[in-house]
Amino acid sequence: MNRMYLLLFGLAIALAGTALWAFNTVLEFEKPAIDLKEDLSTIGQGRFIALSVSDQKSGIRSVSATISQDGKDHVVLSENYPGGTREQALSPELNLRGLHLKDGPATITITAEDHSWLKNRTTLAVETSIDTVPPQIGLISSAHNVNAGGTGVALYRVSEEVTRTGIRVGDRFFQGYPYAIQAKPCHIAYFAIPVSASKGGLKILITARDKAGNESSVILPHLVREKKFKDDKITLSRAFLEQKMPEFRQHDSRVPATPLEAFLFVNETLRVENARTIQAAGSKTQPKALWEGTFLRMKNAAPMAGFAQERTYLFEGMAVSKSTHLGVDLASTERAPIESANSGVVVHAGYLGIYGNTVIVDHGLGLSSLYAHLSDISVKIGQNVARGETLGSSGSTGLAGGDHLHFSILVGGEFVNPTEWWDAHWIRDNVTGKLTETASQEAPATQKAQPAKAKAKGKKKKARG
Ligand SMILES: [Zn+2]
Repeated sequence: MNRMYLLLFGLAIALAGTALWAFNTVLEFEKPAIDLKEDLSTIGQGRFIALSVSDQKSGIRSVSATISQDGKDHVVLSENYPGGTREQALSPELNLRGLHLKDGPATITITAEDHSWLKNRTTLAVETSIDTVPPQIGLISSAHNVNAGGTGVALYRVSEEVTRTGIRVGDRFFQGYPYAIQAKPCHIAYFAIPVSASKGGLKILITARDKAGNESSVILPHLVREKKFKDDKITLSRAFLEQKMPEFRQHDSRVPATPLEAFLFVNETLRVENARTIQAAGSKTQPKALWEGTFLRMKNAAPMAGFAQERTYLFEGMAVSKSTHLGVDLASTERAPIESANSGVVVHAGYLGIYGNTVIVDHGLGLSSLYAHLSDISVKIGQNVARGETLGSSGSTGLAGGDHLHFSILVGGEFVNPTEWWDAHWIRDNVTGKLTETASQEAPATQKAQPAKAKAKGKKKKARG
């Protein structure tokens, strides 16, 4: 008999517990939470309201969003969750033109309700300003004659405050930085021209996006000078691979044991990973030019290999791998001092796969220089370096057969031909000259004062072209 009572008692407790639990889930007092993911103080055509709603107790029953202007409400979101949801991310699109909303003030109201018997409700009202006018872009620099594999520089103005602006070359984006010409604000951007760029085959756009999310772009008129780069065949001896590959294995346990497999891993997989590291280092840039004058070329050094050389690697008579040499190789004496080509800030100092011991110096506005295969490094990340200051000594670390410097220049993390930056005429015609030329164009008084100089410049350009 006792056992029977015990069983009934247990059953009663279980039932009471279930009822209490059910009661708790539907009768709760906590309001749903609404979390806006972005600033909505200004909104433009095609903008999304990124938000998330959550209710940890009874769950979300419904979410709605309206946009109101001049006393009219327009529903932009209406979702129901009969089964409840603890957390929900939503991003309704604001088709402002479709809703016949006009530029000016408006209110966005978001409401979330839960499954409690009390229908706990949270309402969030955001005062916003509708702006569907995209920024106007005005090009100020002229004569963008660029070399395949080289660097381009452009100056332009935007009509309003922007959150993102720069130059799009194919699928690559190069950030534009605030600049001023005679105290008038504008933007400057350095951009890289692909090695394979052809005359008429490249689309370069200046783009700008405002706070409301409106984006505009204009074509940057330019002229590409096509370039032919040399091909090179490199014979890999078994002795070289057997001597070199253990260095990579020391730094990276993924490097295979057999010499050829090790080389293929290093030359292909590691090369791609190193390029990503370099791109990330190159993006740590100052928003102003830190450099001045021409870039220094390693003293008393013989050129060993040029930029954009297409390399085919031969092993025991077979072509086994390929690469594009995105720098210049220079050799002098062993352990020669390596100087910073220009002033800047060290953004990388350490071992970097195929590049061995490497230093990367940021020169501002996305421009940086890279020094590879060093035997030792004498600078630290974050250190300011002057033009000509010693960074370390040359060596043969990484994928190098002998003591030499591999020197690269990068724009927005993309490799460009360094020889342009060694050339005072190129810098004057394509970078510094553009700034002063633009300044004189914009101020008629200055232009009148220097007509002879402007003429001489025009003549010189023709002679060089
Ligand atoms: Zn090299």
